[in-house]
Amino acid sequence: MTGNAATVLAGPPAATAVIAAAARQAATLERPPHLVIVRVGDDPASVSYVRGKAKKAGESGLRSTVHALPETTPSADLLALVASLNADPDVHGILVQLPLPPHIAEEPVLAAIDPDKDVDGLHPMNIGRLWSGRPTLAPCTPAGVMALLEHYGVPVAGRRAVIVGRSQLVGRPLAGLLLAADATVTVAHSRTRDLGAVTREADILVAAVGRAHLITPDMVKPAAVVIDVGINRVVGDDGKAHLTGDVHPDVAAVASALTPVPGGVGPMTVAQLMANTVQAARRQQSQTSGVTGDLVR
Ligand code: NAD
Repeated sequence: MTGNAATVLAGPPAATAVIAAAARQAATLERPPHLVIVRVGDDPASVSYVRGKAKKAGESGLRSTVHALPETTPSADLLALVASLNADPDVHGILVQLPLPPHIAEEPVLAAIDPDKDVDGLHPMNIGRLWSGRPTLAPCTPAGVMALLEHYGVPVAGRRAVIVGRSQLVGRPLAGLLLAADATVTVAHSRTRDLGAVTREADILVAAVGRAHLITPDMVKPAAVVIDVGINRVVGDDGKAHLTGDVHPDVAAVASALTPVPGGVGPMTVAQLMANTVQAARRQQSQTSGVTGDLVR
């Protein structure tokens, strides 16, 4: 391994700045923004994510309520709960924690959420707004990546951005956000031929795949900024499980800047949820700002 050259783009300071800005805005509202999180079943990762989000809401000056429904909840009951939250003027943001149990189809549930309360940004209306370059509630992880780039002053306009991964949750919406920020965007995926030739074009390379150390130093253009969204649980030489990203650690010798895993994009995702909830509450309480606006050409 060669020496580390890349600047570490740590998530926590950037996340703290995003949350501080959201808390300042929240404090100007008549009523504190209220985030409602709905969880179905007891998937341990979901339980832990929901707990973390509710805790962070409290620290950010937001109210939060968690509805924990049993694994066997019928689809109709979940849809009825979403409808009642949509109709409740005291609720500003609604998040249904994914994945849902196999007997509940995700798409109808996501489409049932009022787009103005859709703080996860997964409603088709908000996806359409994002892709047409209009202000929107954007999905939290890609919006968090954009906030991280902004926090560290990484220029985006006019630069070549390559995203590896085309999921609805990360890769696709991030492509829309980078495009709106005037990057020249390429999305690579599992069927991409000669992935290295594509990734070596990138000034900003984002890995959102879920394969430990897929991105190796030879796949990175010297001085590129590399954003590692991947979270992979691997067993180390010590026999213990630990988290690692999609980017091989040796990439630090080639890149100019690199996000760590853990402690990079992860904290930004939760911070952005708070920012989205405040944005949704501002729009609902003032009707002056929010998800309408001019087209970006
Ligand atoms: P996904 O499984 O939905 O999508 C993975 C994508 O990677 C697919 O589009 C697929 O085409 C592509 N892919 C698979 N193998 C590939 C290969 N060999 N070469 C190129 N592309 C390949 O996953 P996701 O939900 O987008 O999540 C991706 C990763 O990001 C996971 O590790 C996940 O845990 C992590 N994640 C992190 C956060 C966070 O807050 N940090 C949030 C969401 C997801």
